[in-house]
Amino acid sequence: MNHPVNEPILGYSPGSKERIEIKAELDRQMSEVIEIPCIINGKEVFTGNIATQVIPHNHSHIIARVHMAGKDEMENACKAAVNAQQNWIDIGLESRCEIFEKCADLLAGEWRMRVNASTMLNQSKTVFQAEIDSACELIDFWRFNCFYARNFHDDFQPLVSPPGVKNSTEIRPLEGFVLSITPFNFTSIAANLPSAPAIVGCTSVWKPSRNSYLSNYVLMQLMMEAGLPDGVINFLPGSGAEITEVALANPDFAGLHFTGSTATFQGLWQEIGIALPNLRSYPRIVGETGGKDFVVAHPNCNERGLLVALLRGSFEFQGQKCSAASRAYVPQSVWSSISDELCDEIRKIKMGDAKDFTNFMTAVIDQRSFDKITGYIDRAKEDKSCEVIVGGNYDDSIGWFIEPTIIVTSNPKSETMIDEIFGPVLTVYVYDDDKFDEVLTLCDESSPYALTGSIFANDESDVQKAFNALRFTAGNFYINDKPTGAVVAQQPFGGARASGTNDKAGGPLNLLRWISPRSVKRTFEPPQDWDYQFMQSE
Ligand code: NAD
Repeated sequence: MNHPVNEPILGYSPGSKERIEIKAELDRQMSEVIEIPCIINGKEVFTGNIATQVIPHNHSHIIARVHMAGKDEMENACKAAVNAQQNWIDIGLESRCEIFEKCADLLAGEWRMRVNASTMLNQSKTVFQAEIDSACELIDFWRFNCFYARNFHDDFQPLVSPPGVKNSTEIRPLEGFVLSITPFNFTSIAANLPSAPAIVGCTSVWKPSRNSYLSNYVLMQLMMEAGLPDGVINFLPGSGAEITEVALANPDFAGLHFTGSTATFQGLWQEIGIALPNLRSYPRIVGETGGKDFVVAHPNCNERGLLVALLRGSFEFQGQKCSAASRAYVPQSVWSSISDELCDEIRKIKMGDAKDFTNFMTAVIDQRSFDKITGYIDRAKEDKSCEVIVGGNYDDSIGWFIEPTIIVTSNPKSETMIDEIFGPVLTVYVYDDDKFDEVLTLCDESSPYALTGSIFANDESDVQKAFNALRFTAGNFYINDKPTGAVVAQQPFGGARASGTNDKAGGPLNLLRWISPRSVKRTFEPPQDWDYQFMQSE
C-alpha cells in the first residue's frame, strides 16, 4: 500500500492566490461574532451560559460567544458517545477511514482558509504558523493515521495456524468512550486527540481549551460535513474539572487522550486512579505534556546555524510550543562570537497583529499566561545571577505582547533554566569551552522534563557523545537543527519523564493505545474424543 505524502505548505507570498484568500477570510471572520454551541449527538445545544472568545493581539475584539456545557450536557455527551459506538464499529475501518480522509481533503481544499484564519485570530498565529499547524499537520494526522490503522489488521495477525485451525486477531477498539482534553496551542492536536481514537472505532467526548473554541469548533463543523456520524465525537466547551468528574462517574470511561500541562495531567491521572473501582475497564491514559527544551552547542559548531535555531526555535509562536527552545548551553568562545549578532537580529523582529504579514511574532494567549511569563522576566531582572540582554519589555494594553527576551545566567539551576515558562523567553548558560562533558550531564539533570532538544556540533564524535549522554533527556532529538517543527510521519512526536507518556502522536504507536485486540481460534473439526494418547494402557 502506498503511503500518503506530507501536505505541501503554502507560501502566502505577496500576490499569491492563498494570500488574497486568507486576507479576505480574516476580514470576514473579524466582521462577525459567532455563537458556538455544544455539539452532542450531532445536535447543536445552546445553553445560554456564555463565555466570550477574544483575539489575543487585540483583546477588546470579541470573535465568538461560546455556550458552555453544564452537568446535563456533559452527562448527555458521555451517553451519546457510548450509544454511538456499536454503529461506529459496525461500519468498519474502511468506512471510518473514508470519513477522515474526506476531512483531510476538505481541509486541504475549500475549508483551508476558514480553519487557518480562525487559528490566526483565536490563537494569534502568523499565517505561516497557522498553515503548518491547522492545515498541514492536521491533514497529515488524518491521512497517515488512516494509513497506519489499515496496516494493523495485517501486522498483528498470528504467525501460526496449524492444520485444522484458523487463528486470527480482531482489532477491536476500547470498549467505551475516550475523554479528549485538548490544549490551546495547536489546532491540529486539538482535532487529532478525539479523531485518532475514532479512526480505530472509539467514540469521544472532546473538551477543547478555553482559548481555542473558535478554531476547534470550525473543525468540528468540518468533520460533520465530512459525514462523521452523530455521537462519535461530541464537542463540549466547559470546565475541564467538571467534565472529568462527570466522565469518571460513567463506568464506560475507557481512556484519556490528553495534551496540556504536566500539572493538569498529573492531577487527572490521580483522579482516574481513584475512580478505577467504578470503571468497567482499566482505562488507557495517554498524555503529552510540558517541556523545557534545550539547545546544547559544542565549541566546534555551525555558529550561524545555531543563531538561527535559537531565534526561530525560541520565539516562533511566541515560544508557546511545547517544543520551543527555552534553555541553551553555549560555550564561551561561541557566545562571544554570536551574542551581539543574535541580539541585533532579535531587535529586528516585528511583533503585532497576525493580519500584518510583516510580523514574525504576535501576542501570547491570555492574561494569565502574560502574567506568568512577565513574572519570570521580572524576577530575572531582580536576580543577581541573571541579566536580561535583549527584550524584557511587555505591554498588555491592546494585546498580550511580550518582547522576545534573552536572559543570560551564571546559575544553570536558576528558575528560568528549569521551569516551563511557555512564552518568548530563552535563558542561556555560558560554559567554559572545556566543560562540554559536564554540560551534557547538567542538561540531563537540571529539569524534570524530557520533550525536545538539540545538539549543535560539527564533529561526529561530539554528536555521538551528546546523543548518548542525552538519550533520556528528549523524546525528540535534533542534530544541528532547532528543537521545534516535528512533522507527522517524519519525526513522530512525544517526550518522556515529566513530558508525557511518549505515545508519539502522528504515529502508529499512538493508535495502538486505542485498540484492545481479540484473539480468535477457529477449529474446523472439533475433537470427538476426550481422552489422550498417554492414557492408553501399555
Ligand atoms: P493546560 O494544562 O492549561 O490545559 C490543557 C487542557 O486541560 C485544556 O483543555 C484545559 O481546559 C484542561 N484542564 C485544565 N485544568 C483541568 C482540570 N483540572 N481537569 C481537567 N481538565 C483541565 O495547557 P494549555 O495551556 O492549554 O497548553 C499548554 C501546555 O500544553 C504546555 O505545558 C505545553 O508544553 C503542553 N503541550 C504539550 C504538547 C506535547 O505534545 N507534549 C503539545 C502541545 C502542548
